[in-house]
Amino acid sequence: HTKKFKKNGYSVYSEEMDVKAAYKLEIERNLKLAIANGELELYYQPIIDIKTREINSMEALIRWHHPQLGLVSPVDFIPIAEESGQIIAIGMWVMETACKQIKIWHDEGITPFRVAVNISTKQLLQDNFVESVIQTLQKADLAPQWLELEVTESVLLDDIDSIKETLLKLKESGISISIDDFGTGFTSLSYLRNYPFDKVKIDRCFIDDINLDMNGKRITSAIISLAQTLNMKVVAEGIENELQLAYLEQENCNEGQGYYFSRPMPVSSIEIKFKNRGGKLFIE
Ligand code: C2E
Ligand code: MG
Ligand code: MG
Ligand code: MG
Repeated sequence: HTKKFKKNGYSVYSEEMDVKAAYKLEIERNLKLAIANGELELYYQPIIDIKTREINSMEALIRWHHPQLGLVSPVDFIPIAEESGQIIAIGMWVMETACKQIKIWHDEGITPFRVAVNISTKQLLQDNFVESVIQTLQKADLAPQWLELEVTESVLLDDIDSIKETLLKLKESGISISIDDFGTGFTSLSYLRNYPFDKVKIDRCFIDDINLDMNGKRITSAIISLAQTLNMKVVAEGIENELQLAYLEQENCNEGQGYYFSRPMPVSSIEIKFKNRGGKLFIE
């Protein structure tokens, strides 16, 4: 950064930093009101069984409708919420909303599927996290088998013992745990053996590379074999085309998610699809 600053010789870069800092403050200030004002919404993206094309689960992905800024991506506000601690309240809202929604879909007689909820490290480090998740499930009258929690690799770098213990408790209470964005972080392979993961989600960048060259293909199939050898299911993220899907099917990848099947959608759009398909959800 300093290098860039010197090279430019004047304040272009520091102005950019000011703008960024101001944006961050603005987001932080506005996030305080977002839950209360009902500006947050969950979109859902189906996760498909690659063999049967049936929807196995729905990943809940947060959206923020900011009155002035418009639709703000989670990529732009989740890191800020993590830093400020607001992720605790937002995470609770996400968990409650997702559990209630899945319960509604089950009650409507739609083929039961699970809901996958993204969890930040800060949440896992809360003393009462496990209890609060169990309470949320009870309040929504939803059995723990319908909930999947997605954690990223970076989670494993913090306070290893307490995180591991929390994940184990969650698993013991019947909730399943996925490792998200696998392959992009700093995880050593031994984490896969030592942590109670049920699923590995291969990061989108590897799926992108499938079309590129043989090495792209080889890395993906190596991750699939490794995870399956350790008795974990494998989900491919970011499937965008037929070629990628065909390769993943050939390599026996268990599940897939991506624009090729469906973009994340608001509840209203999903319900239209349900009604059209008589309560069974398949992706053709
Ligand atoms: P993620 O958990 O890895 O979620 C997958 C992201 O990939 C989503 O981005 C999804 O829209 C996008 N995606 C899915 N299929 C495709 C595809 O075929 N092509 C491309 N290019 N993208 C695809 P989104 O919704 O913008 O979310 C970004 C990240 O924000 C998530 O990554 C997750 O890390 C975080 N996030 C979202 N919702 C929550 C939440 O409720 N809590 C927390 N802690 N993090 C969240
Ligand atoms: Mg995820
Ligand atoms: Mg991911
Ligand atoms: Mg991601």
